[in-house]
Amino acid sequence: SFGDAVEEQRVRADDRGHVFHSWSAQARINPLPIAAGKSSTFWDYEGNAYLDFSSQLVNLNLGHQHPDLVRAIQEQAGRLTTIQPSMANDVRGELARRIAEVAPGDLNKVFFTNGGADANEYAVRMARQATGRRKVLSMYRSYHGGTATAISLTGDPRRWANEPSDSSVAHFFGPYLYRSAFHATTQAEESQRALEHLENVILLEGASTIAAIIIETIVGTNGVLVPPPGYLPGVRMLCDKYGIIYIADEVMVGFGRVGEWFAVNSFDVVPDLITFAKGVNSGYVPLGGVVISDRISSFFDDVAFPGGLTYSGHPLACAAGVATFEVFERDGILERVRDLGARVIEPTIRGWMEKHASLGEVRGSGLFWALELVRSTETREPLVPFNAAGTEAKPMAEIASACKAAGLWPFIHFNRVHIAPPLVISEDELRRGLDIIDEALTVADSFAVQ
Ligand code: PLP
Repeated sequence: SFGDAVEEQRVRADDRGHVFHSWSAQARINPLPIAAGKSSTFWDYEGNAYLDFSSQLVNLNLGHQHPDLVRAIQEQAGRLTTIQPSMANDVRGELARRIAEVAPGDLNKVFFTNGGADANEYAVRMARQATGRRKVLSMYRSYHGGTATAISLTGDPRRWANEPSDSSVAHFFGPYLYRSAFHATTQAEESQRALEHLENVILLEGASTIAAIIIETIVGTNGVLVPPPGYLPGVRMLCDKYGIIYIADEVMVGFGRVGEWFAVNSFDVVPDLITFAKGVNSGYVPLGGVVISDRISSFFDDVAFPGGLTYSGHPLACAAGVATFEVFERDGILERVRDLGARVIEPTIRGWMEKHASLGEVRGSGLFWALELVRSTETREPLVPFNAAGTEAKPMAEIASACKAAGLWPFIHFNRVHIAPPLVISEDELRRGLDIIDEALTVADSFAVQ
């Protein structure tokens, strides 16, 4: 409850004393105790409200305490709280069917996991079993999860401390025109050269050794990198040419983030496997999974799939997933995401290019955007160095502080501010949040060449 300083102190003391936190030097963090959340806003114990422009970890697609999801979980808990995966269950089956209905092509079956990392682990395992090959290619500038193979696939510094782990992984460069690895000057050139590069990597690594290529359909934490036209269809063609399984990691972009059930639906491409988590039920109960094509699922018709999880398809999680589908359909969530992205966010932030000296590029789609901040728009030197920490990262920390002081919880990674609010955010809240970021960018401008 707000204003209860004793309660706040107890939460803080238990946390500091006993909770071991993700990705952190434990003595250097000070987690904010949270008292409540509703829709796009959460509150600390002092009653300060934060408009959540990060949807927690870009998973809270339907916002806090959505009544339909809460009711679905309560009803399911009253009926049958859990049942093991080898038995058939109504909500588990209904959710799998609904996911298959919105997935492209012949992706008709779902293997449920507890989250995104294990979804990628299992997708890779399926690809390895089905092809009899072991190697997996993934992009630099990617995140695929924190478990053994998923962290090996990851193309950002979180992998470094975990090496060596799964050694059968090789990385390649994806398209990123603003910092092109291929000296390209147009999206068409970037797309074509990135595909030539990928084919070279396939040939040099040995096509016959490669089980799968895994790609975030739109790279998430590492920059909201939207692939140029033709790139993903080109990847599909290379996979077909060399007998490689194409895995689309849609853990962050699936379930409405960019105004599609699955982001691949807007790129005219059908992967062999799609991994999902986060938005499938807004993380109300942990859930992830792999959507599987007929070709791969039929491989396991007479060969046992060597994998499983006690909580695969947990009824509480699946009930929240079914309710998510009902809310999306009833409230036109996909349509509102496309509308708010195109009508409110895009014109607003493109307009900022003229007035903010620190704004190098804006990019994104739906309710998923990145503002790439630079010291100079001419040299494109990032506002803070790659993987900056401590004093080097100070400009970004100051931007974050300015946002929080004004009542907005931002998503910040390296030299970027991302915009990823819950999909239920009102237009007024969205405009208010954008105004706060606009103001906070004056802090960024003070570190840039004017
Ligand atoms: N893949 C992508 C693209 C992600 O963004 C994430 C999490 O942020 C994961 C995988 C890992 O998901 P989880 O944290 O649920 O294991």
